[in-house]
Amino acid sequence: MTQASIASPPLTARPLRCRNCGAERAAAPIAICEECLGPLDPVYDPGRPLPARETIARRAPSLWRYKEWLPFDGDPVWSLDTGFTPLVDAPALARRFGVARVWVKNDTVSHPSLSFKDRVVAAAINAAAAFGLDTIGCASTGNLANAVAAHAARAGLTAWIFIPEELETAKVVGTSVYGSRLVRVRGTYDDVNRLCAQVADRFGWGIVNVNLRPYYGEGSKTVAYEIAEQLGWRFPSAVVAPMAGGSLLTKLRKGFGEFGAAGLVAGGVPRLYGAQASGCAPIVRLVERGGELQPELPRTICRSLAIGNPADGAFAARAIRETGGWAAAVGDAELVDGIRFLAQDAGVFAETAGGVTAAAALALARDGRLGPEDEVVLCVTGHGLKTLEAVGNALPEAPVIAARLRDVTTLVEEERTWPLR
Ligand SMILES: *Cc1c(COP(=O)(O)O)cnc(C)c1O
Ligand SMILES: [Zn+2]
Repeated sequence: MTQASIASPPLTARPLRCRNCGAERAAAPIAICEECLGPLDPVYDPGRPLPARETIARRAPSLWRYKEWLPFDGDPVWSLDTGFTPLVDAPALARRFGVARVWVKNDTVSHPSLSFKDRVVAAAINAAAAFGLDTIGCASTGNLANAVAAHAARAGLTAWIFIPEELETAKVVGTSVYGSRLVRVRGTYDDVNRLCAQVADRFGWGIVNVNLRPYYGEGSKTVAYEIAEQLGWRFPSAVVAPMAGGSLLTKLRKGFGEFGAAGLVAGGVPRLYGAQASGCAPIVRLVERGGELQPELPRTICRSLAIGNPADGAFAARAIRETGGWAAAVGDAELVDGIRFLAQDAGVFAETAGGVTAAAALALARDGRLGPEDEVVLCVTGHGLKTLEAVGNALPEAPVIAARLRDVTTLVEEERTWPLR
């Protein structure tokens, strides 16, 4: 055998098809159909061999254990260690909601940048590799900026990252530290996104959520695959997920559907529930009222979900309605409560989007949308250390004492009469 035939085949990206008109085209860094401006999705070979449960279970614990459902041929070259985050059993949350079981899909500990955006960037950066691009970038509300910067740094790629001017300190520092070119744009996320579409055209870079979006989005499906495998190859009855652009919610349905179609899991797709902050809830309002999506100007402390004109909003709303789910919006005070009870019940410290998801699940349970028979997974997507300013002021101040046992005794007695929680 020659060297070439032993080596694994070079990485290539799958071709694309328009979600609206069905037009097909060769793989390329392009997200919009040239015929009808519809969104493009990767096309898989329906006859490709698919692995059995046991084969998947033997593979390394990363999202690439599901590589047959990711949009490439050949082996991925970068970000091989992302994915397979813990699924945390949370009986205290189940009692709080009045449902049978609750698990937290804990992407707060995602590698390497502590949010679920590592999944989409792991997919997008391999698309960049397949296309031979040496510069990637993004328009971001914060977590995507962190992820693109981290993944690009270890791949040795240049990263140009565009964010709205006003973001949490940790999101800014957690991007610049990797040596990326970080640019703050005066305007909303939607302004930043429009700018990035022009940047992609002008410079030929791989903007992960613009011209690499068809490949980027597929990374989100791995949340669904992992939930099914970690529950012992079955589906929960309901999943609650935060929505920004609506991609994660849309891809959860696709991922669960694909595992059902492959015969890996029996039973229907779980009911999907979407969560947003009421200061920016265009997808929730679309679910509630129907009609067309009405863009909004964001006014919420939950900046990670603050997309006023979500690219996949209509698809997310459809996935919610067609699976028999629903959507809920929660105010900023409620989301802060959500962060606190998620931490206190499940030991998971989430950023604002996690607070939105937890508080929305509570609201859905109180409305009877989640019931006593339900087995519910909460998708908790980003770490709380990224948005300390959201919750810091709401917490009791720690007492300062002398290094004296008597002072501790006093505190313990006070705690007996005035418990902190
Ligand atoms: C980006 C993001 C989401 C969801 O994003 P979609 O655009 O809807 O896929 C959820 N949570 C966090 C923390 C995020 O950063
Ligand atoms: Zn089309």
